[in-house]
Amino acid sequence: MDSMLSQGVGSESGERSSNVQVSTSDAHKVDGKNPSEVIHWHNRGVAARALHLSRGVEKPSGRVTYIVVLEGLCRFNIEELNTRGPYCTAKISPLEMTKSEMEQVEQDPDFVTLSRQFKAIAMELISILEQKQKTGGRIKVLLETLPFHKLADIFVASFEISFEEQLCMLDSVDPKVRLSKATELVDRHLQSIRVAEKITQKVEGQLSKSQKEYLLRQQMRAIKEELGDNDDDEDDLASLERKMQTAGMPSNIWKHAQRELRRLKKMQPQQPGYNSSRVYLDLLADLPWQKASEEQELDLKAAKDHLDCDHYGLVKIKQRIIEYLAVRKLKPDARGPVLCFVGPPGVGKTSLASSIAAALGRKFIRISLGGVKDEADIRGHRRTYIGSMPGSLIDGLKRVGVCNPVMLLDEIDKTGSDVRGDPASALLEVLDPEQNKSFNDHYLNVPFDLSKVIFVATANRMQPIPPPLLDRMEVIELPGYTAEEKLRIAMQHLIPRVLDQHGLSSAFLQIPEDMVKLVIQRYTREAGVRNLERNLAALARAAAVRVAEREQAVSVSKDVHKITSPLLDNRLAEGAEMEMEVIPMGVNNHEISNAFRIASPLVVDEAMLEKILGPPRFDDQEAADRVATPGVSVGLVWTAFGGEVQFVEATSVVGNGELHLTGQLGDVIKESAQIALTWVRARVEDLKLAAAEETDLLQAKDIHIHFPAGAVPKDGPSAGVTLVTALVSLFSQKNVRADTAMTGEMTLRGLVLPVGGVKDKVLAAHRYGIKRVILPERNLKDLVEVPADVLSSLEILVAKRMEDVLEHAFDGGCPWRQHQHSKL
Ligand code: ADP
Repeated sequence: MDSMLSQGVGSESGERSSNVQVSTSDAHKVDGKNPSEVIHWHNRGVAARALHLSRGVEKPSGRVTYIVVLEGLCRFNIEELNTRGPYCTAKISPLEMTKSEMEQVEQDPDFVTLSRQFKAIAMELISILEQKQKTGGRIKVLLETLPFHKLADIFVASFEISFEEQLCMLDSVDPKVRLSKATELVDRHLQSIRVAEKITQKVEGQLSKSQKEYLLRQQMRAIKEELGDNDDDEDDLASLERKMQTAGMPSNIWKHAQRELRRLKKMQPQQPGYNSSRVYLDLLADLPWQKASEEQELDLKAAKDHLDCDHYGLVKIKQRIIEYLAVRKLKPDARGPVLCFVGPPGVGKTSLASSIAAALGRKFIRISLGGVKDEADIRGHRRTYIGSMPGSLIDGLKRVGVCNPVMLLDEIDKTGSDVRGDPASALLEVLDPEQNKSFNDHYLNVPFDLSKVIFVATANRMQPIPPPLLDRMEVIELPGYTAEEKLRIAMQHLIPRVLDQHGLSSAFLQIPEDMVKLVIQRYTREAGVRNLERNLAALARAAAVRVAEREQAVSVSKDVHKITSPLLDNRLAEGAEMEMEVIPMGVNNHEISNAFRIASPLVVDEAMLEKILGPPRFDDQEAADRVATPGVSVGLVWTAFGGEVQFVEATSVVGNGELHLTGQLGDVIKESAQIALTWVRARVEDLKLAAAEETDLLQAKDIHIHFPAGAVPKDGPSAGVTLVTALVSLFSQKNVRADTAMTGEMTLRGLVLPVGGVKDKVLAAHRYGIKRVILPERNLKDLVEVPADVLSSLEILVAKRMEDVLEHAFDGGCPWRQHQHSKL
């Protein structure tokens, strides 16, 4: 045994235990770099034999390192240390136990217990290591062959423990102490391995879940491929890319789309954002960037025939449309004005627009703007919002699939603005030919060219349309139809269409002209023809029941003569539902017609009309009944549904001169009532409405004015003359003429000012069976627009001042004059 130890190696071998081969690194060098440094020698060490010395790599600094492999032999005690000379030398005494000593220790029960404990824990460690590194086998052999106190050294030497712990281990000369220390260290090592294992298991668990998913997906793909079912993600993206390539996008948009597609390809389908990106690209690919319906050479004659064939009357309007088309023919890219049809519902605004599309050979798309208050409905939501969508225009273009359709902006007057922006401003951009070349939808986020779209708008009223928007449009007014026009429309257009929709023909159902007239007079009182069409549809439905029942009867027995129709009777007895929509039955009417030619068609008569449509809803007596008491006058008003007849009722009760108004009135109409009352009060004496002693009495009365149809909001100044007439009638206790209706704004001094919507109002009066209409003088010019046959059936009375109105409104002239006459 060497009694000479080099200083570095000596201390180093103390760290490592005997039999394990130790490689020293350059950390353990002895280069005497700092000779002045005092070395504290431990009083114990390990004797070792050098097994191998090798030259390591040469450092850039030129220093060479060596690797020494040592075999530990035994512990020793330093008896005497000599630090002089080039090496430190020491006199040592080995601490090895003799065989007999060892045998004695082995008898010690404490040692036995400790050994057992150590063995158990060492086995546990080995088995864990075995699982992990498959190297446990060799150590296991050691466990069987070596004595435990040596094993303790070997085990501990293989762990990473602190230098202090290493020294402490070196000091444990007593085998019992050594074993218990080693057990503690092995146990600690075991614990740390277990914790590390737990963590890796957790991570592995998560990993394996996604790996499992991946595997399953691969399998699914393989199965799908086997089945020839190729709609998996990659194919999906490939087909999307193909679709994008054929979409004809402008180059800058194509680049943008490709960028987005690249992003999409990098994503997992489960990733958030994948779907929204996919839907967005779908939209880009679906939009008609260039796809257009081929514009035919426009044949004006054919277009005119088309319009005539679809629409009765409307001569001027059709003429204007033809002019519009002619300009387009001469200059296809002309930025003509946007046509805007204004009129009550059911006068044919939508169907005129679709006729324009048909005449131009273009596709037609209707975009409803009614109730749109959010700018985003037109311009779309930005894609950062959850559930964002393109606006209605881009969506419409996607649906129609061409970039040059006729686009109907329906009910443009019904848009409103609130905190969510102003749809009208978006529409301004749409309708401006300068700006709509690059319409910017927030969702799309790239410009889209709308300049090829032909826009047509509809509105019920002009007044709510914001002026800048109105400025971009050419307004064409459709005032509504007279009864005669409605009859013609019904006979020529509605009845054939309704019969067709219900799988019928005139061989089954005939609706004579007289009956259509009755439907118009008694069941509809509208400017358009929509309710008329519904009522005709109700008749057709009832007839369809009869035909369908006959079908049964024919199949049961061939006896066609005896036809019973319990279903129809039930239907008739029920009293028909008037407001039902026409539901096309999708039946091939010709098939039915051929299969069941019947001997006698069903001819609608008055009794049947009442059974199917119920009791008449309107009659001409209404005005007469309502003005049968003093204090009621007949006015003409203008609503979104066209002109209407509006009654005004006034009554007085004991009170203190207050004015009460009811009937959902706006501010303007309330003020009109105030003006009317003031005017009448100021003239109580002039008009001889009350005897001198009664004027005070008038002050002690409350006046209540009511506008019936209380659920409908009303506003506007044109009820002025009607209000005064009602009040004069109330105070004079004279009835107003039932056949006379009036309209006009009145000033405080009694001048009658002109009002709007005269044409609609005159038509409404005509519909109600009114015979005389009092109009402000300055409205006379508006009468040119009223159809001649309507004018000829009405007596138009002109008023300049309020007195003129009163003169015309009462039988025998103004009540005060009658008063005078009676006094004379
Ligand atoms: P609007 O858009 O004005 O509310 P529509 O265009 O929907 O009304 O018209 C309602 C129905 O009345 C349609 O079936 C239409 O064909 C019919 N109609 C309206 N005016 C005429 C007309 N002059 N000739 C023939 N049919 C008409």
